[in-house]
Amino acid sequence: MSNVAFITGITGQDGSYLAEFLLEKGYEVHGCFRRSSTNAFERIEHLLDKIELHCTDLLDQASLERLVAKVKPTEVYNLAAQSFVGSSWDQPILTGEVTGLGVTRLLEAIRMVDTSIRFYQASSSEMFGKVHETPQRETTPFHPRSPYGVAKAYGHWMTVNYRESYDMFACGGILFNHESPRRGLEFVTRKISDAVARIKLGLATEVRLGNLDARRDWGFAGDYVEAMWLMLQQDEPIDYVIGTGETYRVGDFVQIAFDRVGLNWENHVVIDPKFYRPAEVDLLLADPKKSQEELNWKPKMSFQELVETMVDHDLQRVSALTNTSLKVLRKSA
Ligand code: NDP
Ligand code: GDP
Repeated sequence: MSNVAFITGITGQDGSYLAEFLLEKGYEVHGCFRRSSTNAFERIEHLLDKIELHCTDLLDQASLERLVAKVKPTEVYNLAAQSFVGSSWDQPILTGEVTGLGVTRLLEAIRMVDTSIRFYQASSSEMFGKVHETPQRETTPFHPRSPYGVAKAYGHWMTVNYRESYDMFACGGILFNHESPRRGLEFVTRKISDAVARIKLGLATEVRLGNLDARRDWGFAGDYVEAMWLMLQQDEPIDYVIGTGETYRVGDFVQIAFDRVGLNWENHVVIDPKFYRPAEVDLLLADPKKSQEELNWKPKMSFQELVETMVDHDLQRVSALTNTSLKVLRKSA
């Protein structure tokens, strides 16, 4: 039987890397996108003739069910979410509907159509929130600190619940932060790499940031999609923590990014209370022992390489912008 993957959130950072990875493995790849008046295919433009796209939304139960029945996937990867912690305070209900209940809608669609479909849920280290144990492992209790974290915890437990109730092959991958040149511009890493490029090229003079002391376990998204796939190839459905086992301050990211272009960050970074969060997750650090031993998975890209890759990419991207795009960029700076 051929392998057929259905990826929700295929237009996002991870969806694009996962689609590339599964195509390489010989999968028939299907993905879904939301109807939009603008182009949402920037990250998957190079894949459009190799994948099948379907229009749906995690808010719409009936269309999810119809799609699962039509595509007949062997594996479903649920990557779709309102994924930005910052926005989850502004839109807590939408975040709950999409990031939380969306998981149940998809699980129900699978349960109605075919319970032998393997299911991956994009769970998050944000579920640990106010951490009760460092480093964090599969058994560390959750204490989410944002509507996003709460919604992810709900989605994670529903995944476990469907596994235990209906004997479904459903796994929650508890992934720590992973970044890339395809990361959304609102996340701190990409915000920094983009700003460093603009500042170096004379299009901006400063970048306004919040808490530089928050610590994250940051890896490269391209490495992490392999772990998602590995989880669905095991004999048993098990949840795994996926991370590097190293933690850095936001300030470390800033320092390396500015060093890369030969600038002193202290001359360009302005601390702006607007970017502090109502509740912060101070320290995330993965204990990746179980995934290393059982999945034989390890990240390949180091933190330093990740920062430099992102800065180099944005330098190239910003210097290639047309005059019209530059006008927009100057206005928004
Ligand atoms: P992105 O924000 O880049 O992608 C999110 C995707 O979800 C996009 O394709 C988006 O579509 C889609 N989406 C949003 N709302 C809906 C909806 N209502 N119906 C259908 N699709 C929707 O996130 P990432 O790729 O970085 O992350 C992938 C998943 O992994 C997410 O669930 C995220 O929460 C989770 N995660 C990510 C981590 C990270 O560090 N990157 C860490 C741990 C977990 P559109 O393009 O139209 O916006
Ligand atoms: P998150 O871990 O999913 O919330 O990823 P983010 O990249 O959004 O944030 C990582 C950390 O950077 C959090 O602790 C933020 O408080 C901190 N941070 C500091 N300044 C900023 C900023 O300007 N934007 C964002 N997004 N985060 C910031």
